[in-house]
Amino acid sequence: MDAHTRQIPRAAAPPPKGERQDGQDWPARSLRHVWHPCTQMKQQAQMPLIALASGEGPWLVDTDGHRYLDAISSWWVNLFGHANPRINAAIVDQLGKLEHAMLAGFTHEPVVTLAERLSALTGGVLGHCFFASDGASAVEIALKMSFHAWRNLGHADKREFVCVKNGYHGETLGALAVTDVALFRDAYDPLLRHAHVAASPDARLAFAGEAAADVARRAAADLGALLEAREGRIAAVIVEPLVQCAAGMAMHDPVYLREVRALCDRHGAHMIADEIAVGCGRTGTFFASEQAGIWPDLLTLSKGISGGYLPLSLVMCRPAIYDAFYDDSTARGFLHSHSYTGNPLACRAAVATLDIFAQDNVLAQNVTRAKRLTERLAPLAGDPRVRHFRQRGMIWAFDAAIDAPQAVTTFARRFHAEARERGVLLRPLGNTVYLMPPYILDDATTDWLAAQTLAAFDAAYDAASAANGAR
Ligand SMILES: *Cc1c(COP(=O)(O)O)cnc(C)c1O
Repeated sequence: MDAHTRQIPRAAAPPPKGERQDGQDWPARSLRHVWHPCTQMKQQAQMPLIALASGEGPWLVDTDGHRYLDAISSWWVNLFGHANPRINAAIVDQLGKLEHAMLAGFTHEPVVTLAERLSALTGGVLGHCFFASDGASAVEIALKMSFHAWRNLGHADKREFVCVKNGYHGETLGALAVTDVALFRDAYDPLLRHAHVAASPDARLAFAGEAAADVARRAAADLGALLEAREGRIAAVIVEPLVQCAAGMAMHDPVYLREVRALCDRHGAHMIADEIAVGCGRTGTFFASEQAGIWPDLLTLSKGISGGYLPLSLVMCRPAIYDAFYDDSTARGFLHSHSYTGNPLACRAAVATLDIFAQDNVLAQNVTRAKRLTERLAPLAGDPRVRHFRQRGMIWAFDAAIDAPQAVTTFARRFHAEARERGVLLRPLGNTVYLMPPYILDDATTDWLAAQTLAAFDAAYDAASAANGAR
């Protein structure tokens, strides 16, 4: 079938109302018992939920048959589409063998293969993988590992962490402590053990005449001063390589990562690269750190690693960290665990995901895909209503030229609604619109996505201007 006839979206309809005799009124019952994430439930009551029946490639299909292009890969996790035949087949095969077993005292082929293959992708530099189920847990593991490794090595004073302004590393209490996003953090601030916050290398912070690399060096100098002031106290610096995604797709020059690497070496701190969002090819290379030509001491992965199928996260580390725990003493071991650590189904989905990368030459194909979408979105780059049109790998973002807070809120809500009307799933972060599509869009769908994005932007910008006097 041709992409267009197959994929004509229609406007979203509210979920069915009223009681039905066939038990199929679950969409209408959703708001009664399901507490949705990252949502003010009172606002949600005014905007009907989309009740999903199925997924098919880049499309999500609701119970009325309306189709939505998943242009943000379902919160950045879905790499190769929904109901991907190859990942499905791998999981079904695994399901017939072993669905789950504890990983303490046991091992299984999917977890071994996955750890070996990931380690090989770092040339063996990050030779050990510790498994968990979600991104925030991986971040907590990296923090604990760093502190505990230093303690085992006789440096128990290294117990402070440095994170980057506007950085995001998850929302459990330990991860939130190294997260600098007010919206997620402020309410819980009294519960947190504070980390130091270093300047952001966000290229949008350039002064007149400054290049992205200059901003990066300025931010690195700030970090250097911080490490000097806290000499001997810092266990680790945690960064999001190349793109601070939750901050609003803030992109920076790779030189920042080289500087962080050098500073961590100079001051005896671990470098943690949180590649939960930027890993798995999202920025153009499999690991974002590769573009800076460096490896961190600890690296976190989640989101795309299972192809967006099953909850899986992991922390990769250098042998020096692993060796710091290797001892006759139990207490010197890393005694951390999660019930579903190394789940075979999730690991098998991840191996199938790595197979697709290898078999389909995905990273090279994405260069071509990215070029086309960038060209189709080009009108935005020169639009006076737009600031900082930017792209790295398979991430596109631009900021609507709107400043008044109320206008920003109107813009974000309206853009989401306008895109949804047009059959596209896009959720702006404030005035930042971003696209993070799965790595499978064909040319026709790419062009169609760009056209809908432009149209939704026009409508949302007009609405925000009219209602709030944006400019
Ligand atoms: C999403 C994300 C996390 C948290 O992962 P969860 O699975 O949502 O807990 C951590 N760090 C970064 C960079 C992320 O984008």
